Amino acid sequence: MDTNGLDGLDYLDTSGDEIEIGAIVRHRDMEKSPALRAKFPTLSIAAEKIAGLVVRNRGTLDGSAGEADPGGNCPSVLVAVDGEIELMSTDHIRTIGATDYFSADMQGSIKANELIRCVRFLKKPFPS
Ligand SMILES: Cc1cc2nc3c(=O)[nH]c(=O)nc-3n(C[C@H](O)[C@H](O)[C@H](O)COP(=O)(O)OP(=O)(O)OC[C@H]3O[C@@H](n4cnc5c(N)ncnc54)[C@H](O)[C@@H]3O)c2cc1C
Repeated sequence: MDTNGLDGLDYLDTSGDEIEIGAIVRHRDMEKSPALRAKFPTLSIAAEKIAGLVVRNRGTLDGSAGEADPGGNCPSVLVAVDGEIELMSTDHIRTIGATDYFSADMQGSIKANELIRCVRFLKKPFPS
């Protein structure tokens, strides 16, 4: 599926206790976002390690989650911080934990009529 033309999914919200990232945010945006780097640098660093600039300029968070490789840079961070993925269809929205979504068979727990809308995780996922 091509989500490039969809409105409302290109955002990175770090204002609350959780960080929420819209599905079409590109790896390069996560790498360069000052707010994300200040509040949760692990994901910026994971994004900046992905391949080269051409891939990071085009590759998106939803594409990574859509490929459902639990060893992908950003998916492995989402699993480590116990993040969640919001899925939507024409008749429902549901949330699934990253540990339940990503599995070794790389299928992703997503139904044929759903798309990934965003991911979110606690800004401070680890006790200090
Ligand atoms: C040369 C190369 C090197 C790479 N190296 C790394 C690496 O080191 N680490 C790493 O983590 N990744 C790596 N990647 C993967 C890259 O980061 C992209 O995430 C990946 O290629 C997906 O591309 P895309 O975002 O354009 O998604 P697409 O190719 O557009 O989509 C990928 C899949 O997700 C589905 N999909 C897309 N959007 C949604 C949605 N909203 N809801 C549901 N399903 C959706 C699509 O239908 C498709 O099946 C590499 C890729 C390339 C080409």
